[in-house]
Formats: sequence, structure tokens, C-alpha cells
Amino acid sequence: MSRVHCVDCREPVPGDARVCPHCGAVQPSPLVDAGIVVAGVFAFVFGAILALMTVGTTRLAGFLLLVVGFGLAVGGYTRHVDRQAARRAR
Ligand SMILES: [Zn+2]
Repeated sequence: MSRVHCVDCREPVPGDARVCPHCGAVQPSPLVDAGIVVAGVFAFVFGAILALMTVGTTRLAGFLLLVVGFGLAVGGYTRHVDRQAARRAR
């Protein structure tokens, strides 16, 4: 059984716990990370389509969406990798 540590007080908490039994801090769930990455990839693809297929303001919005989507996808993935590394270190 995999043990995770509280993001706040670093006490071990059950892997499926949503809230820390020690300090009550809400634990980030892997599902949230996956959701962020999926949303980021969708925004990235949609932004790329807008940027390539349209002109003017819509194109600008597409570029913006592309950048935001890329940031979300990379950020979500980095968070996930960081936590994996932190878990392995203990
Ligand atoms: Zn805690």
C-alpha cells in the first residue's frame, strides 16, 4: 500500500484521503493533476487550430489559449513528477 505525506504538515496520510487527519489540509489528488493536463492539452490544440485557421482578434486569442494550454499541461505534469520524486525520497 502506497503512503503519501500531507502537503502541509508532512505527516503520512492514507493514499485515498482527501483531507489530512492531522491538520485538516486538503490533499491534492492525482485526478486533479490529470484534469489540469487534459484541460491544458485541449486548450493547446484548440488554440493551435484558432491560431492557424483564423485571422485578427480570434488568432490572437488562439495564441493566448496555446500559451495558457501549454503552461497548464507542463505545470500539471511537473507537479505530478515532483510529487512522485518526493514520495520516492521518503
Ligand atoms: Zn497535515
